[in-house]
Formats: sequence, structure tokens, C-alpha cells
Amino acid sequence: MQIEFLGGAQSVTGTCHLITVQGRKILLDCGLYQGKRSESFSRNRELPFDAAAVDAMVLSHAHIDHSGNIPNLVKSGFKGSIYCTHATRDLASIMLQDAGHIQEKDAEYVNKKHEKKGLPPIEPIYTVKDTLLSLEHFVSLNYHRPIKLFEDITVTFYDAGHILGSAVSLLEIRENGRDLRLVFSGDLGRPNMPILRDPDVLLDADVLLTESTYGGRSHDDYDTVHDKLARIVNETYRRRGKVIVPAFSVGRTQDLVYALHKLTMENKIPSQPIFVDSPLSVNATDIFREHPECYDDETREMVNNNQDPFGFNRLQYIKDVEESKKLNSLSEPCIIISASGMCEAGRILHHLANNIEDERNTILIVGFMAENTLGRRLVEKNPIVKIFGESLQLRAQVFKLNAFSAHADHDELLAYISRFDRERLKNIFVLHGEPPQSEALAEGLGSIGFSNIRIPQMGEKVEILN
Ligand SMILES: [Zn+2]
Ligand SMILES: [Zn+2]
Repeated sequence: MQIEFLGGAQSVTGTCHLITVQGRKILLDCGLYQGKRSESFSRNRELPFDAAAVDAMVLSHAHIDHSGNIPNLVKSGFKGSIYCTHATRDLASIMLQDAGHIQEKDAEYVNKKHEKKGLPPIEPIYTVKDTLLSLEHFVSLNYHRPIKLFEDITVTFYDAGHILGSAVSLLEIRENGRDLRLVFSGDLGRPNMPILRDPDVLLDADVLLTESTYGGRSHDDYDTVHDKLARIVNETYRRRGKVIVPAFSVGRTQDLVYALHKLTMENKIPSQPIFVDSPLSVNATDIFREHPECYDDETREMVNNNQDPFGFNRLQYIKDVEESKKLNSLSEPCIIISASGMCEAGRILHHLANNIEDERNTILIVGFMAENTLGRRLVEKNPIVKIFGESLQLRAQVFKLNAFSAHADHDELLAYISRFDRERLKNIFVLHGEPPQSEALAEGLGSIGFSNIRIPQMGEKVEILN
């Protein structure tokens, strides 16, 4: 068996690994690389392998850094099936259409610049139409239901507890009369998080591909986060201010709504309007409602008691742009949750522009903010920030709650991997992390008795001897 690490090696975006076994080629994820525009464009457009030669694909979850280049894969000649869970297929459907729309808009923007410079126009990497064609390749199934990809290769999905539908994939491969188990973590979630079940425990693997986003780092305890959230909401309410929350449409938004719902039910925060303002969040929440098979016991009980964790009284979902703009004229305290998560695009920008100069308001950060994003400048409390080309003074309060993270932290990753049989697991590849994070996790794994741990380079090819 051979593994090629083609994306998401020593980096967190663009996950893509190619396995060659028994003369078959199987792709694990096909994510979009996100970084500087010019580099992203060429890296995403030119796949580093022959798409037509790939026989099948396994998709861990719907986040764009894992699924976002699927339309281009299909456009480039891939003819096989894409296997994932039911919920991942449904989320990928809306997220890829949204991504197609963004690709079209991006090309339009670049072409306007090209026209001024007299350069020829470019084509988008893919269009909404391409995403619809790629959806025809999906084959979805439930967790814990093995499916044969080929005669000697079976895949089974286990719960990863990261976002709705997210999976740890087990590939069982019969090669040279021996059975080989390869486990691909995808993105691993945290135990005891709301809505979703904890990650499923696996015990045996010969080869493990693990993420390492938060290697060497630890999150706050989730149990204390509700109290902190209540305190922030109450203080802002007392000042008659608004709470503005930039959040990713899938995962974080639903977790936050769930937490606010609980706090309101327990009378720990005052009754006030709560808006979820993003067309994609609205669709994604509809998909959460349709997949009770992914809920944990607590959420299932809420649903059984006719409580609706995603649509309680004070919550309003806003699809329409005009209605979104009306929120700007509201004068009473309220909570506005809006995309995008890193404040680089979308409706969150006008909410920030309208509210950051008022010291009564609060900006609440609940996710990872990459370098060179407006989100990062807010976390760092830069006194002056630019939005829509205008310099604005940051007078609102800024708070960060990292306990809402959907990724396991260092100790949680170690605890998860420590359950694998050390005698059997002789090939560990540490991926999906910036180098210091991957190194910290590799070191941690070595210290608990695992051996042969590697941090592959982008494009590296590794032969696994059976
Ligand atoms: Zn993810
Ligand atoms: Zn990821």
C-alpha cells in the first residue's frame, strides 16, 4: 500500500490524501486550500494527481477544507463514487453550492481587475453547476454500516463528534492474504460537547492518519463556558448593548444557539431577541433538524419532550438581505450571530461596521481566527480596524470563548489515540496542523509509547509494508 499526502500536511487547509492499494486508487477527502488568493487559485485549480485515474473517494465531513475541491475533482474527470455519511452528504450539498457561488464571484472580481490591466479573463475553478454535477457521485450511508468499495476494500464510518455527520473512517484492506486496518481521523471532536455524540472509540489499527490542529494546546473546560457566556450576555444587556458573534455557519452557530436556549430556559440570561443572520446558517440548521440519528442523549431527550433545540421562541432566522439590514436600526439589546467566522466576508461585516464604535456593545469570538483576518485584528484588540475601506475605532468590548471549539485539544487527541493497541499500530502520520502543533502531538504520542510517528511533507509518498 502506498499513501501520498497531497494536502493538509503541515497545514490545516486543503486535506487530500491518495491511497494506492490492490491496483486501486482511493482519495481521502478533497479539500479546498485557503490562503493568499493567487496561491489558492493555482493550487486548487491544478490537482496534483490524475482525477480520472482515481477509483473512489471517502469524505470525512462537509467542512470546505475537506470537501471544497470535490466539484473540481469531478470536473477534472473523476468517475467514481464519493462515500460519506447521510448528514455529510446533506451538508455538503448546501456548502458546495455556496462554495460554487463564491468561486464564481471570486472570478468576477479578478476579471474586473484583469480587464483594467488588459489581461485575459479567467474561468472560476468551478461553478454552482459543477457542484450540482458532483453531487451525483455521492453514496451516503449510516455510521457503523460497512460498505465494500471493492472486492478486498471495505469502509466503515465511526462518529468523530466534530460536526454533524463527521466521521472517523476505517478502511479494512485485504492485501497479500493479510488484513490491514487504516484509520483516518478526519477532524476529531471533543467529548462532552452539546448536540453531538462523543467520538466513537476504535481499538485496532495498523495505520493511523490523525489530525493535529490543536496539538500542544488546551481548551477551556466546556462546563464553565455556559457561566462565562451568561456573564458576558448579562453585562452587555445591563449596558443596553448588543452582542455580535461572528460564527461559522456549520457547527459553532448551532452550538451557540443551543447554549443560549439552555441559559434562557434556566432564566440565567434575560429575554431578548436573538438573530441568526446568514442564509447558509439557516439552511444548515434545517439539516441539523433532519438528522436526529446524530444527536447525543441530552439533545434527543429535548426533542422527545417537544422542545426544539434549534428554534425556540426568541430566536429568529434571517434569510433575506433586506431584513438583515433592518437589524442595523434596532436600538434595544439583542444577540446577533452571523457568518463568516473569521470576519472576512458576508453579513457579519455590516454588523461589525455598525456596532464596534459603541462601547455598550460586545464582540464575542468563538472560533479560530487565522492570521491576516479582521477576526484576528479584533481578537488582538487593534484600536483602529478597517471595514469596507473605512477606518473605525474599536470601542466595543471583545471577549473570546475558545471552549466552543469543535476540535479535540492536545490532551483529548492523546486520550483518543492512547486507546489504540500500541503493538499493532506501527504507522502514525500526524497531519492537519501547523508544524509546531503537529510536532507537539508527535512528541506527545512518543511519550506515551507509540513509535514510528511521522509528520509527512506536502507531496510525500510513503510505502506501507504489510
Ligand atoms: Zn472540520
Ligand atoms: Zn479540517
